[in-house]
Amino acid sequence: MADWVEVGIALGANLGDRSANLRFGLARLAPTVRVTKLSPLYESAPVGVTDQPAFHNAVCLARTGLEPLQLLDFLKEIEHAAGRRPGRRWGPRLLDLDILFFGDRVIEWGRLTVPHPRIRERGFVLRPLADLDPTRRLPGWTEDVQTALAAIDTSDLVAVAGPEWGAKAGED
Ligand code: AMP
Repeated sequence: MADWVEVGIALGANLGDRSANLRFGLARLAPTVRVTKLSPLYESAPVGVTDQPAFHNAVCLARTGLEPLQLLDFLKEIEHAAGRRPGRRWGPRLLDLDILFFGDRVIEWGRLTVPHPRIRERGFVLRPLADLDPTRRLPGWTEDVQTALAAIDTSDLVAVAGPEWGAKAGED
């Protein structure tokens, strides 16, 4: 196994009990992926396909000994365990788990791009990431997270709960 590295993971859901789905995902991460910091919970308008329910979103920082593709497969397993099945791109989902960054790695493989290529466009990622670590500069970025956040419109975002929303993870 590789050395433990810090990773950023985005969590999203817009079907069912959205925050419960996110808590399910968080609970399943442990102990392979150890969450060190959890952001507040936000509600956001859907992107791309707009005729679908609003999302709940959050970001966590974590440490793991998995390799990047192992982490991707692990996240896909958790999405599947939450009931998610392959559907249309940008469509509704019970649980979506994305790798935002993986230590200081820059990866452009067929199945995996890290840092995640659409972070800069997504307030529902930048805002919770800025809550956790505003001055973080992701690998390959020239600006930090709070600067990227200041450059976009986040008027669709609503703070739903503080970081305590995840406290019940693992109790289900
Ligand atoms: P999604 O619909 O958001 O679950 O993403 C679909 C596909 O994006 C996944 O099956 C991955 O192979 C690919 N992908 C590429 N880069 C990433 C990343 N950084 N995090 C998660 N998935 C990624």
